[in-house]
Amino acid sequence: GVYFSGKRFIFNQGKNSMAAKNYRYVILGGGVSAGYAARAFVEKGLGKGELAIVSDEGVAPYERPALSKGFLIGNPPARLPGFHTCVGSGGERLPPEWYQEHGIDLLLSNAVTSVDPSTKTLKLSSGDTISYDKLVVATGCSAMKFSDLGFPGADYQGIHYLRNIHDAEKLYDAIQAQKGKEAVVIGGGYIGMEVAAALAQNQVSCTMVFPEAHMMERLFTPEIAKFYEDFYQKKGVKILKGLSCKSFVGNDKGHVTGVVLTDGSELKTELVVVGIGAKPNTKLLEPFLKMEQRGFLVNAQLQTSDSNIFAVGDVATFPLKMYENRLERVEHVGNARQMATHAVDVIFGSQEAYDYLPFFYSRVFDKSWKFYGDNPKDATCLLFGEMNPKLFAVWIKPNHQVVGTFTESATPEEEKKIERIARERPVVDVEKLKACRSADEALN
Ligand code: FAD
Ligand code: NDP
Repeated sequence: GVYFSGKRFIFNQGKNSMAAKNYRYVILGGGVSAGYAARAFVEKGLGKGELAIVSDEGVAPYERPALSKGFLIGNPPARLPGFHTCVGSGGERLPPEWYQEHGIDLLLSNAVTSVDPSTKTLKLSSGDTISYDKLVVATGCSAMKFSDLGFPGADYQGIHYLRNIHDAEKLYDAIQAQKGKEAVVIGGGYIGMEVAAALAQNQVSCTMVFPEAHMMERLFTPEIAKFYEDFYQKKGVKILKGLSCKSFVGNDKGHVTGVVLTDGSELKTELVVVGIGAKPNTKLLEPFLKMEQRGFLVNAQLQTSDSNIFAVGDVATFPLKMYENRLERVEHVGNARQMATHAVDVIFGSQEAYDYLPFFYSRVFDKSWKFYGDNPKDATCLLFGEMNPKLFAVWIKPNHQVVGTFTESATPEEEKKIERIARERPVVDVEKLKACRSADEALN
C-alpha cells in the first residue's frame, strides 16, 4: 500500500500490522464524493488524524468528468494536478498536500477488501485494518465490460473503457496512435457521445454503434437527438443505430482488428471504445445493507440501514424530496458533490432532508447542454429554436406544469433561469408558449 505522509508517499507492506488504527471518520472510495466530503469535513472543523480516505486509485480525488473531455482534447490536454476536486464547481483545488496540511490520511493505491460493520472495521489490500465511528461509502461505479458479459474476443487489446485516470491515459495514447485511422465507439449514451466527439477532434475517423433509435434515448427526444446527430455527421462521425456488437475479431498478437455487429457486418478497426453503462461498486457491503435499484438504500439524511454508515454518489439510492420521495440512484457529478456535502452536514448534527433537483449535462465539440428536473413518460416536450444559435425545451405534464427544462448553447444567466423553472415547476399557458417563435421568446 502507499500512504501519503509528510512530503512523501510511504510504502507500507503492513502484512503483520498490529491493532486497527481508529479513525472517527472513514471515507471508502477516493473519487468525486470523497473530495467534496473532505472539503466539507474541514469546513466543519475536522480535527487532525480524525479522517482517513481509502482509495484504490493512485491519485488524490479529482473531477472525473474531465476524463472524457479536457483530458482527451485540450490543447494542452488537462492533466493532474489541474483538475483535482473541487475545481469542477468553481471551488478551491485540493492537491495531495492539502490533505496532509489538514491531517487527513489519504490512503492511496489501497483497496478495501472487506468491511465488517459489526466491529466497524475495514481490511485494506495493504494488509492493514482500520476502524471507524462513522463510515461514508463512496465507491462509485465501474464500467460495464463486454468481457464480463462473455462476448467472444472481448479481451483483445485495443478495446477501451473509460472510468478512471488510468483508463484515460491508455485511451489518450491509443488515440494519438490512431490519428488518421478508424475507430469504433459502442454505446450512444454519455461516454459514447463524448468520446466520439473527442475522437473526431483528434482526427480519428469514428463510427458510433448503438442499439437505440437515437442518441441518449433516455433523455433526448427524437427531435433533440436529431440536432446532435446531424451535427456529429457534419463533423465526420458515422452513426449506426439499432445495432450492437456481437463479437470482436483480432490478430495473432491479441490485438483487436474488427467488431462484428448484430447484423453480421464487420467494422475493421484497431481502436474500440465502449460506453455501455456502469455498475455500482456495492459488493463489499451488499450482505449487510438494504439494497434498492442496485444501490445502497439511504434515508433523507443519507444513512443506510446501518445508521453509522452513509452512502453517497453513484452507489446511493435516495428519496427525491421534490418528487414525493420517489427513490432514485443517480450517476452524475452534481449529485455526488451535493450528497457528499450533505452527509457531512448530517454527521455534524443537521437533520435536513437531502433535496436534490435532478441535473444532467454534457459538453461535446463546441456544444454544451444542460437538463434540469424530470422527463416523465406522460409529459409533452416543446422545443424552441435550433441548436445553433440556441435550443430550449420544456417538458410539460398534462396538468400544464413544467417539470423539465433543457438548453443548448445558453448563457449562464439563462441556465440559472431554466434551473429555477425546473425547481419551481410553474403551471403555464401552453397555447401561449407554443406560439413563441424562438428560444429567447420562450425563455422570457
Ligand atoms: P467515483 O468518482 O467513481 O469514485 C469512486 C472511488 O472509489 C474511485 O476512486 C474508486 O476507485 C474507489 N473505489 C471503489 N471501490 C473501492 C474499494 N473497494 N476500495 C478502495 N477504493 C474503491 N457526470 C456528470 O454529471 N457530468 C459529466 O460530464 C460526467 N462526466 C463523466 C465522465 C467520465 C469519463 C465518467 C467515468 C463519469 C462522468 N460523470 C459525469 C459521472 C460522475 O463522474 C460520477 O457520477 C461521479 O464521479 C460519482 O462520484 P462517486 O464519488 O460516487 O464515485
Ligand atoms: P450510459 O448509460 O449513458 O449509456 C450506455 C449506452 O450503451 C446506451 O446507449 C445503451 O443503450 C448502450 N448499450 C447498452 N448495452 C449495450 C450493448 N450490449 N451494445 C451496445 N450498446 C449498448 O452509460 P455510459 O457508458 O455512457 O456512461 C457510464 C457512466 O459514466 C454513467 O454513470 C454516466 O452517467 C457516466 N458519464 C456521465 C457523463 C455526463 O454526465 N456528461 C459523461 C460520461 C460518463 P440502452 O440504453 O439501450 O441500454
